[in-house]
Amino acid sequence: MSHRLAVIGYGGMGSWHVENVREKIPSLEVKGIFDVRQEACDKAKENGLFVYSSKEQLLADPEVDLVTIAVPNNFHKPLVIECLRAGKNVICEKPVALNAAELEDMIAVSKETGRLFSIHQNRRWDKDYAIIKKMVREELLGKPYFIESRVLGSRGSMHGWRGYRVNGGGMVLDWGVHLIDQLLDMIDSPVVSVDSHLIHVFGGEVDDSIKVFLRFENGLSAMCEMSTNCFINQPRWHVSCTDGTAVIEDWACNGKMVKLNTEAEMEWADDIVYTEAGPTRTMAPRPKETTLELPLPEVQTDWSDYYKNILAVLDGEVELIVRPEQALRVMKVIDAVFEADRLNCGVHCHI
Ligand code: NAD
Repeated sequence: MSHRLAVIGYGGMGSWHVENVREKIPSLEVKGIFDVRQEACDKAKENGLFVYSSKEQLLADPEVDLVTIAVPNNFHKPLVIECLRAGKNVICEKPVALNAAELEDMIAVSKETGRLFSIHQNRRWDKDYAIIKKMVREELLGKPYFIESRVLGSRGSMHGWRGYRVNGGGMVLDWGVHLIDQLLDMIDSPVVSVDSHLIHVFGGEVDDSIKVFLRFENGLSAMCEMSTNCFINQPRWHVSCTDGTAVIEDWACNGKMVKLNTEAEMEWADDIVYTEAGPTRTMAPRPKETTLELPLPEVQTDWSDYYKNILAVLDGEVELIVRPEQALRVMKVIDAVFEADRLNCGVHCHI
């Protein structure tokens, strides 16, 4: 079945949605956009798009059955509810809401109207994430026990509306929501404690350099770190497992897995080794033959699979991949992140 999309908000991400759909999803026609900014409307016209003169005109268009919302975060809740009530199926950009309570209201309206409601957590289709998810789920290096996920930059404060609390700015709601969503999607266990260090280096009223620590009921721990003021990068992923370690260095997915070579002799284990750190057994470098270096597993991913899933759900063929209930867990963790920072200590939970 063919479907017709309208996009609300034609800024950085709204225009990405339009181009991605035009290029990769032939069964979804882009009917038009609406934006409150004249400059954005002019740009859309230049790009050959129909521009609705008002939100009401867009919502009254009977041909549009799917609306994507890509506006600053504080406008998500009212717009999602308005679109659902107008009978539209809705995709909302991340973070879907500013907190869990907002999202609960949105979910209630989606249930009441029976319309599809999903959140654009596109980073579940990132290649680096898919590799780590496969490695963790299939226990390729034994049992994972500590997962570190980092996105680090050095360009300083949060840009534009992202610098204001009223707009739902700050790093937790910008990148944090992606990294937390990935961890909750990958680790099949409730979160039992959350701690966080939210630093405002240049961000003024919003956080811009953050560390979040999660403990899961199954014993796994995870840390995610995001910064706008990091001049020496660290790996995108570092995963500690009982039989080895995996690293993904960058977005290009350079990295490796190193595991114990169980065939190799371990006679050296009791000898003290004299290193630059002094005499040590535990921290001495390993003889090379006692480890095996393996390539990262192969995976296939494509961001446009998100839209393909939405259309297949609308056609009644499959289940929704990014469900509002999953986003609610993420928002509850985010509420706990802010609470832990406010209290200056970790908080117990069962999310
Ligand atoms: P942006 O500032 O580039 O664009 C936002 C647009 O929304 C602007 O053109 C603005 O005029 C318009 N707008 C504001 N209020 C509006 C309203 N009430 N009605 C209609 N239009 C309105 O911001 P952006 O970077 O495109 O971010 C938009 C959303 O997309 C945010 O929620 C952000 O978190 C999300 N985002 C997601 C990803 C991702 O990877 N999933 C990446 C970037 C941004």
